[in-house]
Order: sequence, then C-alpha cells, then structure tokens
Amino acid sequence: MARRRQLYEGKAKILFEGPEPGTLVQYFKDDASSDNGTKTGVITGKGVLNNRISEYLMMRLGEIGIPTHFVRRLNMREQLIREVEIIPLEVVVRNVAAGSLSTRLGINEGTRLPRSIIEYYFKNPTLNHPLVSEEHITCFGWAGTADLDDMVALTLRINDFLSGLLLGVGITLVDFKLEFGRLWENDEMRIILADEISPDNCRLWDSKTQEKMDKDRFRRDLGKVEEGYQEVARRLGILPEAGMRDLKGPETMQ
Ligand code: UDP
Repeated sequence: MARRRQLYEGKAKILFEGPEPGTLVQYFKDDASSDNGTKTGVITGKGVLNNRISEYLMMRLGEIGIPTHFVRRLNMREQLIREVEIIPLEVVVRNVAAGSLSTRLGINEGTRLPRSIIEYYFKNPTLNHPLVSEEHITCFGWAGTADLDDMVALTLRINDFLSGLLLGVGITLVDFKLEFGRLWENDEMRIILADEISPDNCRLWDSKTQEKMDKDRFRRDLGKVEEGYQEVARRLGILPEAGMRDLKGPETMQ
C-alpha cells in the first residue's frame, strides 16, 4: 500500500495529505515541548486524548454554528480536516491572568480579568512568536481588517461557549490559543477555526481547587501530567476507558 505523503511535522502534530483534494489528516503525537522549545518530553497518551478532546470541542462548536476545519475522527490519533490557508497568527484569549500576561505586566496569576482580553502573536518560531497589534497585522498583510473582525467575532463566541461548557464540568477556562485559516469555496473566502483545542493550548484549572489540568503541569514540572489531560477528558465524558466506542455525555458538576 502506498504511504501517505507527509506535508508538515510540528512539535505535537503531523499533517498528511488527505484522501480527497482539500482534505488533510491531522495526526496527534505524544511529544510535548514548552512553547519556546527549551523543554521537550513525552506525555504518554496525550495524542489520543487531544485528538478526542479537540474532536469533542470542535463538534460542539460546530453545533452552535462556528465553522471549523474538523470533518471527522478517523482513529485514536488521527482526524480528517479541511485544508485551509493558515493565517500566521496565534489568537490568545484570556479570562484570568496567568502565564506571559502575569510575568509581562506583573499581575498575580489567578486574578480574574474585568473583561476578556484578546491578544495576537505572530506565528514565527524564529522570532519566538512575538506579541503584535492590529497595526502590525494589517500593515504587514498577515490579515485584513475584515479578517480580523471575523476572527474577533468568532473568538468571543468560542470563548463564551467553551467557558460555559467547561464550567459545567468544574473547569475554569483561564486562557487559550486559537488559530484560524482561510477556506476558499467558489471564489468566496471564509475564515474558519483550525488547529486544535486541547490542554496543550488551553489553561484549564479545577474551578474549586484551582489545580492545573493542562500543559503547565509539564512546562512547570508539577508532576501528574498525564493525569491532568485524562481528568479533562473524564469530566467531558469522553475518556476512552473500554475503547473509543464507550462514549458518554458530559457529567454535570453541582
Ligand atoms: N499558547 C499556545 N502556544 C504558544 C503560546 C501560548 O498554545 O505558542 C497558549 C497557552 O497554552 C496558554 C495561552 O496560549 O493557554 C496563553 O499563553 P501565554 O501567552 O501565557 O504564554 P506561556 O506562559 O504559555 O508561555
């Protein structure tokens, strides 16, 4: 059987050519690295869990009308996605101060923000993904003002919906990173959600104890890294226990 053509390999994912034109296969690895790449390692089972968590969240978002690149999950580590032209921005949303916001501005981690903040980072590993403003984005043509309006509108809806969904299972959505892509259909361009939504690119804290259930357990050597990812999947009712067919709905926390 012919091997699929690999198009891209990143830190946590591999992209292969898809079965039909306009599709790709996204493969989730167990490899982990801190965002500046100084720490690398393996989180056993992370790829399987992120594939499942991202599928679940993208499907729920699809149900409220958010366009996403997700088509369907193919197996434990792979999903079929639509090929898009990735906009070279990391769109970060923050509800609670943490990470680089806290260090940059001296705001204590855990401080609830009076309103959600959207930040943009230029997707460029050589430059270490610098923080940029709308002025830089439009000046250098990474996205136009109409594209930015679409991204902001989608991002705010995604944040509200995911914050509520996660709070229902006892998880605070502290912050997260989104990526968007351009999808061309008959000369019409639409901006759709791409990449993944998982504990690799979200800060997820237990709403009662503030315990971290995301990649910060790895970045900050907090231990029980696998357990954090598993707990997110368990609370969403999608932990593959007796195989992937055993899928329950989310459990509601009182
Ligand atoms: N994030 C990400 N990829 C990056 C940088 C950040 O997914 O290259 C996510 C990160 O997981 C967190 C949010 O974006 O949920 C905000 O990250 P922050 O700017 O605080 O940077 P960090 O402290 O992670 O370096």
